Amino acid sequence: MADAHASEPERTLYDDAARVLPGASFGNVEGDLIVREGRGGRVWDIEGKEYIDYLLGSGPMLVGHAHPDVNAAIAAQLAHGTTFFANNAQGIRLAEEIVDAVACADKVRFVSTGSEATLYAMRVARAFRGRDKVLKFEGGYHGMSDYSLMSLAPQRPGNFPVATPDSSGIPHAIRDEMLIAPYNDADAAIDLIRQYRDDLAAVIVEPQQRIIPPKPGFLQALRDETRANEIPLIFDEVVTGFRHAYGGGQAYYGVTPDLCALGKVIGGGFPLAAIAGRADIMAHFDAAAVGPDKFVKMIGTLSGNPVAATAGLATLEILRRPDTYERLFATGRALMEGIGRLLDEAGLAAQVVGEPPMFDVVFTDQEVSDYRSCLAGDQDMLKRFTAILKENGVLKGDSKFYVSTAHDEADVAHTLDACGRAIEALAALRQ
Ligand code: PMP
Repeated sequence: MADAHASEPERTLYDDAARVLPGASFGNVEGDLIVREGRGGRVWDIEGKEYIDYLLGSGPMLVGHAHPDVNAAIAAQLAHGTTFFANNAQGIRLAEEIVDAVACADKVRFVSTGSEATLYAMRVARAFRGRDKVLKFEGGYHGMSDYSLMSLAPQRPGNFPVATPDSSGIPHAIRDEMLIAPYNDADAAIDLIRQYRDDLAAVIVEPQQRIIPPKPGFLQALRDETRANEIPLIFDEVVTGFRHAYGGGQAYYGVTPDLCALGKVIGGGFPLAAIAGRADIMAHFDAAAVGPDKFVKMIGTLSGNPVAATAGLATLEILRRPDTYERLFATGRALMEGIGRLLDEAGLAAQVVGEPPMFDVVFTDQEVSDYRSCLAGDQDMLKRFTAILKENGVLKGDSKFYVSTAHDEADVAHTLDACGRAIEALAALRQ
């Protein structure tokens, strides 16, 4: 590749991406968008087009991009160095803040990504229980480990509780280590827990699975049944942590698990995630406490990174300010209700599903309560909806709006205007 760095005038960043990145992207979203910068609730692409941003970096930027207070804290830390491997004050303070805020958190262990946090949460539960199998819910997203990729988004769902790998390259043996249940079906989960209680190390669940809220009593039923069988219950709070409430999904829904995985918001836009939970389970990360046979080995070059911890602490400080969650929820509610009204007026078979900080449209008039009912929504309509919004300067993920505290009433008005245009175009297609 002798001429790889030649600057032919016709070569653009898009061409460069296609040359050096598989699929011309980082793997997250389509490579036809290259973001130049973000501020508050907006991002700009490299052509200078402005978007109201509901992608929010896939969720971490809850207080908006480039928040001046977060940036000031990061800049101050940068002058003192960026990573040490050893303990640092910022990481200790962040762990303290998590212990104070999150009901299940007696102890905290840092990692760099949400995928690692859930991987270690499952592993430490196995060490604690001395069993191997983990029950997860179909459609539940817990990152990219071999275990988490079981029945994440199967196009042809199989029979419960048999797991379907959602990626090539996963060893066959892993399938047998995961049991799959339908989300929001407490009876099915209880039956499986009872049937497999002697093999189960843990039950892992997103308190709000993707955009689908838990039915009243579902999380409590999981809590009661796992407690009765002494099986650790893991909440994957990578999305819901510090978003649905300062205490996360466990505070919002009023059910306390034994362990949780945190990520996104606690890193303030930097790679930082955590496993938090009961002292007796977390003790397995401490060789001196449990002995070499029950010890869960865990080393990470960037674990507890001081810049990430600083950004996380500054973000949490902003979230603790008066009325922050009230404003976040008011913005989210205005969007959800507004979009719902537009869908009704257009007579489309569609509904808004979610909670105010995180929701999307599902194009079906059937009840959406689990992965299969969500999959039954018209995926092509959702794709078009997302694409028309993007053309109109509103950026969202493929199946999610993330709301930030930086979005204001003018953003809501502009967004509803764009949604109106998108829904009108979709209704015209249906005629
Ligand atoms: N759990 C949940 C609920 C998530 O939404 C995500 C990321 N979208 C993860 C785990 C994995 O986090 P990461 O991408 O940081 O590995």
